[in-house]
Amino acid sequence: FAPWTDPDAKPFITFRNVTKRFGDFTAVDDLTLNIYHREFFALLGASGCGKSTLLRMLAGFERPTSGEIILDGQDIAGIPPYKRPVNMMFQSYALFPHMTVESNIGFGLRQDGMPKNEIAERVAQMLKLVKLEKFAKRKPHQLSGGQRQRVALARSLAKRPKVLLLDEPLGALDKKLREETQFELMDLQQDLGLTFVVVTHDQEEAMTMADRIAVMSHGKVIQVATPAEIYEAPNSRFVADFIGDVNILDGKVSASGNGRIELAASDGFTIRTAAADAPAAGSAAGFAIRPEKLKVSRAAPTDATVNAAQGEIWDIGYLGDMTVFYVKLDSGKVVKASMLNAQREVENPIAYDEKVWVSFGETAGVVLKD
Ligand code: ATP
Repeated sequence: FAPWTDPDAKPFITFRNVTKRFGDFTAVDDLTLNIYHREFFALLGASGCGKSTLLRMLAGFERPTSGEIILDGQDIAGIPPYKRPVNMMFQSYALFPHMTVESNIGFGLRQDGMPKNEIAERVAQMLKLVKLEKFAKRKPHQLSGGQRQRVALARSLAKRPKVLLLDEPLGALDKKLREETQFELMDLQQDLGLTFVVVTHDQEEAMTMADRIAVMSHGKVIQVATPAEIYEAPNSRFVADFIGDVNILDGKVSASGNGRIELAASDGFTIRTAAADAPAAGSAAGFAIRPEKLKVSRAAPTDATVNAAQGEIWDIGYLGDMTVFYVKLDSGKVVKASMLNAQREVENPIAYDEKVWVSFGETAGVVLKD
């Protein structure tokens, strides 16, 4: 499933040059973005980056200051929220406390004037879908957080929207329940064949659930890509730093061409790596490398002149599944390396204050141009 790689595939949702201003503050800034049918799409960014505003414009609760939003081939600017084939599930769930689970789920259908027997049938389907058949007669306060979340989900799916918008859907759940519910949501989205757009500030959540992620900052999309691409090939310092742990080594391009690049004086490393459209010789550039791609060893690597530097163990953290090493390089820079404990030497492991080598392979990191 990767319609975005097909140049002929028609997007299901398009934001075209969308800007949203509140007074003189620009919350969404000339943003263009395509989302495909049946995609599980995540908008990821720090608080205030404009992700909820983007979702609210799609739902129809806010109007763009300028630009177009196209849904299934139609410009939806003039369509009121309740007539859009879009439904939104809020973080607070907003369940009616005095209504039972089944009347909460059937609420929107009653408002639409659907016949009673059809409502009953649809509500029963929804209860089954979210595995709450036994809880139909309960009130929200008689449910756990996870069950309430499922009622809210059932309610927002009852009208069979084509697109479900989820604003921090798992924010109120504890860690374990959140992880379980992530997989339930993914299953549900697949089974129903719907398009999900989820807003989250939790990168792990976005990485786990989404087909693609848009990383946002200050009302703009910085990168749109699959979780693996975002993690392994961030397009900027911002994305590299925002997603996961990273070391950024700074230096100057000493040679560049044929898809290869050499960075000199990069915090003590001479870096040689592959780089598509590499910056020209003489320009400053960074190199982003994840902790698990840095190798820490007592012995010097075979070729210690490139992609290697010496330092001293500054700190060690044991995390159960892995061990984290902070190495103070001779250049003064501290880098973070991690190693799975299954791969760590049991006898005579590397310890505090030891002199070590830090090295990495030719394709272990990415060159940053900014
Ligand atoms: P969070 O995760 O905190 O909800 P967000 O990325 O979803 O953040 P938005 O809710 O989209 O951010 O808000 C983006 C910016 O626009 C914020 O700085 C916010 O204060 C501002 N903003 C949002 N709604 C309004 C409004 N109705 N009037 C004025 N400013 C607003």
